[in-house]
Amino acid sequence: MNEAMKMTEFGADVFGAEAIKEYLPKDTAKKLQGTIEKGVPLDPSIAGEVAHAMKHWAMDRGATHYTHWFLPLTGATAEKHDSFLELKDGEPIMGFSGKNLIVGEPDASSFPSGGIRSTFEARGYTAWDPTSPAFIKRHGNGATLCIPTAFCAYTGEALDKKTPLLRSMQALDKSVKRLMKLFALPEAHVGCTLGAEQEYFLVSKKYWERRPDLVMTGRTLFGAPSAKGQQLEDHYFGTIPENVLDFMNDVERALWKLGIPAKTRHNEVAPAQFELAPQFEELNLATDHNMLIMDTLRTVAEKHGMKCLLHEKPYAGVNGSGKHNNWSVSYGGRNLLDPGTNPQENAIFLTMLCAVIEAVDSHADILRAAVAGAGNDHRLGANEAPPAVISIYLGDQLAKVVEQIEKGKKGGGDSGAGRKGVLRIGVDTLPPLPRDATDRNRTSPFAFTGNKFEFRAPGSSACCAGPMTVLNTIVAEAVDRIAKELEASGTTGKAKPGEHTAAFHSALQGILQRTLAAHKKVVFNGNGYEAGWLDEAKRRGLPNAPTSLEALKALDKKENVKLFERYGVLSSRELSSRHEIFVEEFAGKVRIEGICAMDIASEMILPVVRDEYAAMLEAFARAEKCCVSSGTTALKESIVELGSGLDSLKAEIAKLDDAVSSGKSVDILAAMGSLRTTVDSLEHHVPDDKWPLPKYRDMLFLY
Ligand code: ADP
Ligand code: MG
Repeated sequence: MNEAMKMTEFGADVFGAEAIKEYLPKDTAKKLQGTIEKGVPLDPSIAGEVAHAMKHWAMDRGATHYTHWFLPLTGATAEKHDSFLELKDGEPIMGFSGKNLIVGEPDASSFPSGGIRSTFEARGYTAWDPTSPAFIKRHGNGATLCIPTAFCAYTGEALDKKTPLLRSMQALDKSVKRLMKLFALPEAHVGCTLGAEQEYFLVSKKYWERRPDLVMTGRTLFGAPSAKGQQLEDHYFGTIPENVLDFMNDVERALWKLGIPAKTRHNEVAPAQFELAPQFEELNLATDHNMLIMDTLRTVAEKHGMKCLLHEKPYAGVNGSGKHNNWSVSYGGRNLLDPGTNPQENAIFLTMLCAVIEAVDSHADILRAAVAGAGNDHRLGANEAPPAVISIYLGDQLAKVVEQIEKGKKGGGDSGAGRKGVLRIGVDTLPPLPRDATDRNRTSPFAFTGNKFEFRAPGSSACCAGPMTVLNTIVAEAVDRIAKELEASGTTGKAKPGEHTAAFHSALQGILQRTLAAHKKVVFNGNGYEAGWLDEAKRRGLPNAPTSLEALKALDKKENVKLFERYGVLSSRELSSRHEIFVEEFAGKVRIEGICAMDIASEMILPVVRDEYAAMLEAFARAEKCCVSSGTTALKESIVELGSGLDSLKAEIAKLDDAVSSGKSVDILAAMGSLRTTVDSLEHHVPDDKWPLPKYRDMLFLY
């Protein structure tokens, strides 16, 4: 191993294959690996042995504590540490049993449950998810063994984001296996893959500390635009500043230790905005890893005198941050969204492609709901891509292919041979599909990018589990529907892979043609930034929910409740509890912002403006007393400007106060907006050294 390789220390803090081999006897190790690979529950007879090995492995790395680590519905991660240390007959020992490993019973009554758990049955329990390996979290001079778990109520109902994600993976597994069987493929592992690109801002801690809005809400509630923003587009992919590069190096070293394949780093569009992209992994693991990435970004920034802002829109008028979820499905290790090189692979690819098109068109409303959140509204609802209308970008080449399938003669035989602009499934080979070179896919919320879909609508602070649970479920349904129709065609017979009859391909062609005819309206290859798109989308009948509160209503729709129930992903109670929690979370966040804006305006801005106004009045009075007339015109103008600013400031604060009392999020957001306009214009009328808040020109450029 060379120096650079050693430096990565990849996976050193993960209880993975290597640690298992080193710390467990051969046969136990084999059993455990089986559990991990198949995702089946751990054989209880080996739990004690595994726990013992894990404890020793963790203690060898300095861990004194362990915790079940889970994804509650707050969208964050949760941990409750216990030390290994316990007293036995008055003697200290280091204990950690099989039971400690497999289940935990955190007194978790304060996590949101949306009514699923009443306080008299407050305890939830956490259950080990062996498909995501245990890892060590380092902090200062200590270390803790973290065991990824699912979090449920005693009734078995999910109280977390991981449980439905795992269930949705099972649903997709089942329907993809059903479809692949029709293609005469032997049973194989269905993999679901995710590569989540993470955007974030960095801000100097010294500014952050003087910004109660950043401290309380994660975004600036006030701040006039700086002269320079992102208009020169000179930040994107620019040279990474030295101190940021240092920070990134530390982040990556920490992530590599955790077995997270951090791969790409670069400057993003906005000043002070950056991106980190790991290599894709199995969905469940990638989801946990993204939570750890966000955690690591935050803690390492702190050590570098900075704060990492993961909010979707920290600065008004400046590009927001997303989390692009690159998603695909594989079968026996082959990516089903890879177009492939022969008619059989092409046919499977096109079937999966059509299934995704059908799924997204049929359920755009739930996909939109899955990315709802107070922060993300500032991206999706504003004049920024991606818009709140969910559409699919295919790129010109693939769009042409799809058109040709629709036109292609039903019949699979050679009746249409040689006809240009027609594609027959199972006969013609797809033309090579070069990776789309245009920039338009960047304006789409859901883009095909060569061999995967990139769901760009999720917000930067989001947990990947929610949107991915929805995507898996709706695609499972579409795959099932296509499989069912194909089965009913009676053409699937006993073909060997790649040796299907013309009748089979003809039936498939017919199914895909009908699928496309019904759902191609969701395909949009134009520029999602253009104002005209929203009108066009409306004409096509695509849903547009610019605000989260509107979007979340989709979770209550009867047909959607049925869908999640049918696929065993969320019961109607679990779904409605989520609806309730997300609406409450939205209202809670907006209320905090409202109160924070009021505090800043009345305690920080108003006194400064008032003093400045008083000082000018005083100067004016003195000038009059001395019979000096020069300068008084300008002074008077400034006094009037400041005075009217002061009047509106007072009035806007009162309006916001009323809105906060009314509790209506829409009113609070509107009142915050007008208060902001007043404050931001006052920023230009008060001397720089007296303005109490660090300005955009400081925060965005001096980090
Ligand atoms: P971009 O131009 O958007 O940066 P990249 O090719 O760098 O595109 O890929 C972005 C992300 O997509 C990376 O995290 C990458 O690992 C991931 N990715 C690539 N192939 C797949 C796949 N089959 N499934 C899921 N994610 C994938
Ligand atoms: Mg990218």
